[in-house]
This record gives sequence, structure tokens and C-alpha cells, in this order.
Amino acid sequence: MVAVITGASRGIGLELARQMAARNSRVLGTHRGAVPADLPGVDWHPLDVASPESHAALSQHLDGTAVDLLVCNAGIYLDKFENLAEGYPPAMWAEMFETNVTGVFLSVQSLLPQLQQSGHGKIVIISSQMASHTRAPGRSYIYRASKAAVLNLGRNLATDLEGLGIAVGIYHPGWVQTDMGGPTASLTPAEAASGLMDRFEALSLKTTGCFETWDGHAHPY
Ligand code: NDP
Repeated sequence: MVAVITGASRGIGLELARQMAARNSRVLGTHRGAVPADLPGVDWHPLDVASPESHAALSQHLDGTAVDLLVCNAGIYLDKFENLAEGYPPAMWAEMFETNVTGVFLSVQSLLPQLQQSGHGKIVIISSQMASHTRAPGRSYIYRASKAAVLNLGRNLATDLEGLGIAVGIYHPGWVQTDMGGPTASLTPAEAASGLMDRFEALSLKTTGCFETWDGHAHPY
């Protein structure tokens, strides 16, 4: 199996790359800065998900390669400490939507030929429980809105790609001990990645459009 994982330089993406390669997948991890740690079975390619040129270069690099699984994992959370009175500047809205939403759309669009070539391609989107409008505790408006948008994007892609045989799943990875989740989060990256990989394996055209937690529960929208 060939898997492409965006934002694999650290955190959940890095652990997914490590565990997928250990399960005998051929993994292409993407990174922005220096080439990350040498992991057996993982090839690296640069990708800034907010840059159309960067996507074009990755798509060209993978020209003729069937991609069985695209993991849209790269994401940013910049508005953790903003306050409503004077925070949440428009530039922050733009940057987070470029990465968390447009970045996912461009990843899918640019690798669609490779996913089709697989014959049973899957797209998995790492969203968040913060995408939910049922569960709305307030604050972090930009991050919440961006993750809700990418949940919506994933569900509509699921409808449009079903006819091409491509399944799309959207996931909450849990609260994970990464730079984003912080050291007091409840899950290690290894636990989250292992659960997510089980979800990716279970994803099919029968379950396409699902929004699930890392440990297999349906998440409220
Ligand atoms: P980290 O902050 O630890 O890692 C984020 C990754 O995304 C890095 O590899 C980073 O690359 C990459 N990235 C950010 N911006 C871009 C960009 N423009 N182009 C390419 N890559 C980029 O986050 P996590 O591992 O914790 O999060 C992974 C995903 O899980 C995110 O989508 C996040 O929103 C989601 N999530 C995480 C939760 C948690 O508790 N940790 C909870 C719910 C959802 P670089 O090293 O170059 O910055």
C-alpha cells in the first residue's frame, strides 16, 4: 500500500508515518523544513499545503504512482489564547483557513489522478472534535470554524468521489501529546496513530462520509 501523509515532520503525522511503514506500507511523508528523522520505509518530499506550486511539484513527483491512502493531517491552531474583545485578527483567519481548509482541498485535488489510479483509493481528513456544532463550548473561533469547514468539505467530497470508488473519512484524533495538544493531553501520539490506522483500514465506500473518533465512535456533527 502507498500512503501519502501531509505534515509528517512531527506530532501525529510523524507517528502515523512510523507505524504505517512498520505495517509494510510504502509511506511518503511531507515536510516543510529540513528533512525529518530517517525512518525506515518512509520517503520524504517537501510540501507547503498552502502553496499551489508546492502541490504541483508533489503531484509531478508522484506522476504515475498509484496512491492508496491520502492522509490530510497538516494543520495549525494559532488562536488558542485570543480574546474576543480585540483578538482574532483577519490575517489569522486567512492563514488558518489557507492551511486547515484550502490546504486539504489542494491536497485532494492535486493527488486525485494518483488516487484514482489505485482503484480503491481512500482520503482521510484529520479534523477535530472542535469541528462539532453540537458540542460548542466557545472560544478558538478560527480553529473551530476551520475544522468545521474541512468536515463539511470531506462530507461533500465523499458524495462526489463515491462514483470514482474513492472513500473519504473525517476523524477526531483524540487530545494528543504533541506541540499542538501540549504535554498534559490524554493520549500519546502512538495511541492516537494506532487507533486512527484501524479507522483508516475500516473505511470503505459503505462508510464514506463518516465523522469518527480515533477509537471508533461516531462523532456528533
Ligand atoms: P503539530 O503542531 O504537532 O504538527 C503539525 C504538523 O502540520 C507539522 O508537521 C507541521 O509542519 C504541519 N504543517 C503545519 N502547517 C503546514 C503547512 N502549511 N504545510 C505543510 N505542513 C504544515 O500538530 P498535531 O500533530 O497535534 O496535529 C495534527 C493534526 O491533528 C492537525 O490537523 C490538528 O489540527 C489535528 N488535531 C490535533 C489534536 C491534538 O490534540 N494534538 C486534537 C485534534 C485535532 P512543520 O513541522 O513544518 O511546522
